[in-house]
Amino acid sequence: MSTCFEWREAPAAQFAVIGDPVGHSMSPRMHNTWLRSVGREPSYIAVRVPESEFDLAMERICGLGLAGVNVTVPLKELAFKWVDTLDQAAAEIGAVNCIDIASRHGRNTDSPGFLATLATLKLPDRPRTLLIGAGGSAAAVAHAVCSARFDLAIWNRTSERAAALADRFGAKVNVGQPITVDEYDLVVNATSGIEDIELPIAWESAKPSAVAYDLMYGRETPFLGYARSLGLIVKDGTDMLVEQGALSMEGWLGQSVDRRILSAALEGRP
Ligand code: NDP
Repeated sequence: MSTCFEWREAPAAQFAVIGDPVGHSMSPRMHNTWLRSVGREPSYIAVRVPESEFDLAMERICGLGLAGVNVTVPLKELAFKWVDTLDQAAAEIGAVNCIDIASRHGRNTDSPGFLATLATLKLPDRPRTLLIGAGGSAAAVAHAVCSARFDLAIWNRTSERAAALADRFGAKVNVGQPITVDEYDLVVNATSGIEDIELPIAWESAKPSAVAYDLMYGRETPFLGYARSLGLIVKDGTDMLVEQGALSMEGWLGQSVDRRILSAALEGRP
């Protein structure tokens, strides 16, 4: 666990992840390990920024001379409004998880980060995909999947939110209970993982080749545990964390980042 600063007490640094809560973030460890490995100063910190103090905190962050900031829950939409310019993914998703401070340019690296992680999975071309959840990270996944022209359906506890997200990205809505998964090659869980959520999924009917992918990392969720017990292929959110982080750093420094170093840093986590 890295030190987490309150924004008023944040020291000068080069990079930061901001959010609330943010003390659990593995980004400082991941990035500082890589910065050290390439002979740079390990100067990436975690800073707690309450939603209501976002603008004030960003003023201070600019004053401290930070080059780049990652943004996590619940600040991605505020970051979207704060920046002056956006990359295409951020504009289409409506959320920014990566800011270049000097240019006030916002990017979304969650979407391309998620997509990059699919390369290691044995999926058919344009896999039929079910996305569970309709929050911020679900929007990034929906964007990724639709930009790759996969066939997408969305299920969410609050079906109106699933319908709204599906509408934005031209996806279908899956409203069944239990959630039927028999027709999908890829089932992605993007519900929030602070507490264990028991989703009503009819896993028994899944294709034997189906992949269960949970954005949560650091512990096995009931979603992945059940899919694993049935012999399905499972994947957690660690590689997505690595990819979105690597893409963020590459944009800030213009230097390629070795994902293996970021992954190794995470393996040593408590
Ligand atoms: P949000 O708070 O924006 O969305 C929460 C979603 O979870 C909503 O769809 C909500 O449904 C659903 N939900 C919450 N509680 C329940 C419940 N009891 N039963 C069913 N559904 C529930 O969260 P985020 O999108 O920001 O984050 C989701 C997860 O993704 C987090 O665990 C986060 O850590 C992870 N994440 C991982 C990343 C990575 O790099 N690996 C990157 C970004 C996120 P409803 O609409 O009905 O309230």
